[in-house]
Amino acid sequence: MTVHTDASKYLDPKVSAFVSGKHEMLIGGKWRPSVSGKTLDVLDPANGKVIAAVPAGEAADVDLAVKAAREAFNGPWSRLVPAARAKLIWKLADLIDQHGLMLAQINSYECGKPIGDSRNGEVPFTAETFRYYAGWATKLNGEAMTINAPGDWHAYTRREPVGVAGQIIPWNFPLAMLAWKVAPALATGCTIVLKPAEQTPLGALYFGRLVEEAGFPEGVVNIVTGFGEAAGAAMSAHPDIDKIAFTGSTEVGKMIARAATGNLKKVSLELGGKAPTIVLGDADIEMAVAGASSAAFFNAGQSCGAGTRFFVHRKIYDKVMSGVAERAEKLRLGAGLDPASELGPVVSQQQMERITRLISEGRGSGAEIVTGGERAGDVGYFVKPTIISSTTPEMAVMREEIFGPVVCAMPFDDEDLETLAQDANDTEYGLAASIWTNNLGAAHKLAAKIKSGTVWINCHNFNDVTMPFGGFKQSGWGRELGAQALDLYTQTKTVAIRLP
Ligand code: NAP
Ligand code: MG
Repeated sequence: MTVHTDASKYLDPKVSAFVSGKHEMLIGGKWRPSVSGKTLDVLDPANGKVIAAVPAGEAADVDLAVKAAREAFNGPWSRLVPAARAKLIWKLADLIDQHGLMLAQINSYECGKPIGDSRNGEVPFTAETFRYYAGWATKLNGEAMTINAPGDWHAYTRREPVGVAGQIIPWNFPLAMLAWKVAPALATGCTIVLKPAEQTPLGALYFGRLVEEAGFPEGVVNIVTGFGEAAGAAMSAHPDIDKIAFTGSTEVGKMIARAATGNLKKVSLELGGKAPTIVLGDADIEMAVAGASSAAFFNAGQSCGAGTRFFVHRKIYDKVMSGVAERAEKLRLGAGLDPASELGPVVSQQQMERITRLISEGRGSGAEIVTGGERAGDVGYFVKPTIISSTTPEMAVMREEIFGPVVCAMPFDDEDLETLAQDANDTEYGLAASIWTNNLGAAHKLAAKIKSGTVWINCHNFNDVTMPFGGFKQSGWGRELGAQALDLYTQTKTVAIRLP
């Protein structure tokens, strides 16, 4: 298996100049280094080389950013009418489109994903998310209640912004995750302290330039780069942050929830998943093969909704699995910037080691590797697309979020929906699931039995800005996207008036 790890020739000179330039954080409308002067390195996951250094923000930097966000919240941002906020957010969306090529290249460079996925998927989705929430800024109305008590009353609600929002995002969809958090917060009138993942700060810093260009008042969007243990932890515990929104591992999500108890800030969490891909006996095999492969291997499996447990009816199991294996073996592995790459590296050495360790542990406890099962090449952080069979429910590969191009497959004999749902639900996660069938009745009945925030039928990893996304069980608290995301950044005030 050849791995194409050098894609420097595809790098636009403007992207190259930006990436290798000096990076500072955006705080209160000014670009500044970290208070400590420390930096952290950003690597190209396709070859492990250092491509940039960004400030390693810590508690002191978070303090400055929170102060700036508070001043903007109390000051200029609160004086703008909703239509003015909408106009700024819309302008930001246009700038994202205009800078689409730059953003896509930066994104694929730092996180390794295929350039087409950035250019045709993530970047347009990012712009669309801002545009969708620009529309909501002018539609955040309260309601008037009819009162039961005797006398004359007028009572109504106001939807007010929660205040300063801390937002901590991961590296798997650096721009989309930014948009899912920043856009609704801006629409509702909150101000923001954003911490991108240590592996992928560059797209967020470039976005900071677009925020400036759009003309947002200083301090509305502050971007602190740094490690989770320092900057992220300081944000979660900060007494003057009113709300924290997080996407990442369930383990860190729990730490954030604990840290937030100091001032009882509002918390929303979008955490891990272990989505089942359920293929019923009557499914269209070609569609199921394509869908299940993409569910498992899209974004090198680094997706919280990734389909990582295949349940396939025995009568079509061999056909489906040989189809998926064939696709897996044909995927062209290479650097994200190379337009020919179909599967990029995973984001870091740490992630690569974690994935290969989990695969080896599975093998050690009796699982079989159908294809893949190891690192690809010896440069960069590539993992061969992997299918594992003969698993048992208690194996770590079946229980833990692997976050790599790895799927466990098992046949089932009886299409009893209750049993199928039980097996699909046998996980502490509950983010997503997909069902592949032409049987409308079975599809809807099974969808109702699955304990997850999203159920896809004859599709997987389908997100639309209008559709709420989030987790049941330990996959999180709250829903992002759609109108529901506005609830995360607003609080209701009731005003009751006695009419004398
Ligand atoms: P992670 O630690 O949960 O990282 C997510 C974000 O949280 C990053 O910005 C991270 O900063 C920050 N963070 C880390 N520790 C923190 C703390 N104590 N307080 C506040 N913020 C903190 O995830 P990871 O270590 O990169 O990946 C590990 C596993 O998490 C993956 O294998 C995968 O299973 C899961 N994961 C899930 C998602 C998802 O979309 N649900 C996304 C990413 C990872 P740093 O970047 O500095 O660590
Ligand atoms: Mg980390």
